[in-house]
Parts: sequence; structure tokens; C-alpha cells
Amino acid sequence: MTTTKVSVNVEWLSACGGCDTSLVDLHEKILQLFDAVQIQHWPLITDIKERPKAKIGLISGAVRSQHDHKVAVEMRERCDAIVAFGTCAVYGGISAASLAHSNAEILDRVYVHNPTTVGGAAPKNTVAVLEDKVLPLDEVIPVDLYLPGCPPHANFTFEALAAVIAGRVPKARDESVCGRCKRTMKKTEVAAIDSGYAHPMDPSLCFLSQGQICLGSVTLDRCLSPCTEVGAACTGCAGPTMQILTEPNRDLRTEVAERMSLLTKIPAAKVVETMEAGAKSHYAYAMATKMVGSKPTFLIKKWIEKIEATT
Ligand code: SF4
Ligand code: SF4
Ligand code: SF4
Repeated sequence: MTTTKVSVNVEWLSACGGCDTSLVDLHEKILQLFDAVQIQHWPLITDIKERPKAKIGLISGAVRSQHDHKVAVEMRERCDAIVAFGTCAVYGGISAASLAHSNAEILDRVYVHNPTTVGGAAPKNTVAVLEDKVLPLDEVIPVDLYLPGCPPHANFTFEALAAVIAGRVPKARDESVCGRCKRTMKKTEVAAIDSGYAHPMDPSLCFLSQGQICLGSVTLDRCLSPCTEVGAACTGCAGPTMQILTEPNRDLRTEVAERMSLLTKIPAAKVVETMEAGAKSHYAYAMATKMVGSKPTFLIKKWIEKIEATT
């Protein structure tokens, strides 16, 4: 780290707060970071409203509201380098499930026709006005560094921040989650898709071999693969691998279907159909990006076209 302190502004847009909070996972390394930086603005820990000029702007969250849009533009004006921090900022994240619904439908469901609300009404002036659709940060402002992960593991966050502070390119491999997973892929006689919820799964065998959809092979490792180790299939929260992002014909569902059909007796078409039907979950984290939205994933394309036709 450098001896001259580097000024940093931290902001969150439409975010759950997990990315900001994950900085605590740096543990004692956070002291090295605080030695090297001067935090000037960070809504999570300070009440400083102004955003002074800064060398680095760290932004988590997607652009969902007009307020998010304004804050993103102001951060770009004030900061020399912008880091899109976390899957929501990089790809739009889980808020992109809203692509399946109009803003009117969402407000009605949240504030009016909701099992826990009686006589509700959509707020008029008290919440931020929604944009037409969720946008990743780089569709609103230029981004200098992308750090996906929901949230990114502290190892990747520290390396990325240390690199930006030192003015060098971060070291990060583009392995998939499978690269670190300890489960073994093995050909089985499994003939049906299994949700994995009704009975225990073999902890040493790849989920795909057991008929459960796992997105590890199509997901970039920015997490050190914790989920498969504790018995949960990967849902793809760090976003797609570089191959999926850069090769137009590669898509999450076709890649997973091909692999799963080779490992089991489940036809690839059945896997594609299942992932398509559950697109809101299987594409939950990156469907707002043009790269993923323009893949041959019919439902997502249909949703986006519907929104664009009505706005
Ligand atoms: S990327 Fe994940 S942890 Fe970060 S703000 Fe979005 S939902 Fe929360
Ligand atoms: S598909 Fe999932 S369970 Fe199988 S090796 Fe990859 S990460 Fe592990
Ligand atoms: S869901 Fe997948 S990408 Fe997300 S933390 Fe778990 S293993 Fe990593």
C-alpha cells in the first residue's frame, strides 16, 4: 500500500447493504486499507452528505431509481476512477427480477394488494421514483473496474482495492465456481430433475450428477465456492463466466443442460425447459445486462421487449 493517503467516496444505490457490510470481512486487513485511504463519504458509517472530489469511487447497487441515477452521475463527476462493487452494480443483480413486471405492478404488489397490507396505497412523494427498468452501473456512467460477487469475497475485494490504490491492474483469475468445488462429477443413472429439498443429497457428488441444477460451471469464482461445500447448489450470484459473457452462442441454460445430460439420463431439452420456466431464479443476478438479455433466453427477451414497448 502507498504512504500517501488516497481519497475514497463510497456510495450505495439500490443495494441490500451486503457489499458495504462485507468490507468488515477484510478483518485486520481493513487496518491496512484505512492506513492507505481517506474515506470522505460513506453513508453506511458516516453522516456526511457531501461528495468531495476523490481518487476512487466505490459504488454498490443497481441503478433502479431516478435518485440512483443522479447519485451515480455525481459520483462519476467527482471521482477519478469508479469501481462497480458487487453483482448489483456490475450486472444489475437481483433487482433485475423486476424486469418480469411493470413498475405499476410492482408498486401495487408491494403497497396495495399484499397479504400484510390492509387499505394500502402506493406512495406518491415519499419514495424515490423508479426508472423504467433496472440498469447495471455502466449503462449510466463509465466504469473503470468491475468487481462482481454477492458480495465479492474479501480476498478479491482486498486485492482489487489494493490494486486501484497502487494504480496497477488487479490479479484475478477467471475460473468458474467448479474450479474450487470439491464435489466429483460422475455419470449416474439419475433420470429426473431433483429440487434437492425433499431429501439429503450425497455431499461428495456434483449436484448435476444428482439431478439438481447447479450453476457452478457457468459462474465466475469471486466467492471461493462456499455454497457447494455446505450443501447448497450454486445459484450464480457472482454472475456469469467470461465465456458466457463474451461468446454470443453460449448461454447459462444450454451450457448447464449439456453438462447435466452428459452426467445423467436427463435429456438436455428437459434441463433447458426447467431453467426457462425458472428464469427469474436461474438468471436472477445478471439478466439486466445487455450481454445476457440478448442471449437466446426467450422469457427475458420477451420481458424486456414488453417494458420497452410500454415506455
Ligand atoms: S451484490 Fe449482493 S450483497 Fe451486494 S448489494 Fe447486491 S444483493 Fe447485496
Ligand atoms: S456443477 Fe456445482 S456441484 Fe458440480 S462441480 Fe460445479 S460447482 Fe460443484
Ligand atoms: S451462489 Fe455460487 S457464486 Fe454465489 S457464493 Fe454460492 S457458490 Fe459462490
